[in-house]
Amino acid sequence: MKYAIRTRHDLMSQEIRNHLKERFDTLGLSEDNTEPDIVVTIGGDGTLLDAFHQYVDRLDMTAFVGIHTGHLGFYADWLPHEINALAEGIAHGKYSIETYPLIEVRMSKLNAEPQKYLVLNEATFRLASGTLAVDVYLQNELFECFRGDGLCVSTPTGSTAYNRSLGGAIIHPTIEVMQLTEMASINNRVFRTIGSPLILPKDQTIKLIPTGAKKCILTIDHHTELHEDVTRLDYELSGKKVQFARLKASTFWNRVHNSFIN
Ligand code: NAP
Repeated sequence: MKYAIRTRHDLMSQEIRNHLKERFDTLGLSEDNTEPDIVVTIGGDGTLLDAFHQYVDRLDMTAFVGIHTGHLGFYADWLPHEINALAEGIAHGKYSIETYPLIEVRMSKLNAEPQKYLVLNEATFRLASGTLAVDVYLQNELFECFRGDGLCVSTPTGSTAYNRSLGGAIIHPTIEVMQLTEMASINNRVFRTIGSPLILPKDQTIKLIPTGAKKCILTIDHHTELHEDVTRLDYELSGKKVQFARLKASTFWNRVHNSFIN
C-alpha cells in the first residue's frame, strides 16, 4: 500500500505527520506522493479540499482520510490521539470505501476552448464588483433572470459548507443531487427570482448565461479565479466520485452533529 500525507503548515500538524509517517513505515507502507493508494490529510476540511485537487486526476485510484487538528471537521473526522488506530486500520485494510458525488463545471469564454473543473464542495459565480446579471436555465429551459451578488452550486458533501451559510439544505451524500443557492438576490417589482434553494436530481443540468459584460469571479472550492468574457457556465453531476476510506462507525449525521452541534 502506497500512501501520501498532506499537512497544514502549523507545528501540531507537522508533528502528527512525523508520528504517522513513522507508524506507516513501521507497518510496511511506502510513501509515494505521485501515485498514492491512500492520502491522509492533517489539518482541516480545507486541507482535504487542497489534497482532493492535487490528486483530482487519479480519483478512481486514491482514497482520502482526514485527521483534524482543530475541532472535528466534516471530511476530516479523525482526531490526533486516534492516529495509531488509524495507521493500523489502513495497514491491515480494515476500512470500507464510501463514495460521494462531484459536480463538473464547464466554463465557456469568447475565443477560447471551454475549461472543465471538478468540484468537491461548490462552485460560486459572482462579479468582481457590482451586481451579477445571469439568465438561469434548468434543463435548457429559461427558469429565471437572476440579479444579485451571485449563485452557488454545491455537492451533497459541500452542502454543509458555503451552501449552509446561504440557507441551503444539508443533503445526505447518498442522494445524488446538486443544489443551487442564491447570494443576496434582488427581488422587487422589476426583478424576480425563486428566492429559495433548488435541488436538482442526477442527469439534470444548470446553465448560466451572463447578460452583462464584466469581470467575473469563479470559485471552485477554495480556488478563486478572475475571468473576462465568460459566455456560459454549465453544471452537472460528474460521472466521477471521490472515495473516502472509512475506518470507524461514523455516519454522515454523526459528522454533521460533531461539526456543528457538539
Ligand atoms: P476557509 O475560509 O479557510 O474555511 C472555510 C470554513 O469552511 C472552514 O472552517 C472549513 O473547515 C469549512 N469547510 C470546508 N469544507 C467544508 C464542508 N464540506 N463542510 C463543512 N465545513 C467545511 O477556506 P478553506 O478552508 O480553503 O475552505 C474553502 C471552503 O470555504 C469553500 O469550499 C466554501 O465552502 C467555504 N466558504 C464558506 C463561506 C461561508 O460559509 N460564508 C465563505 C467562503 C468559503 P476547516 O476549518 O476544517 O478547514
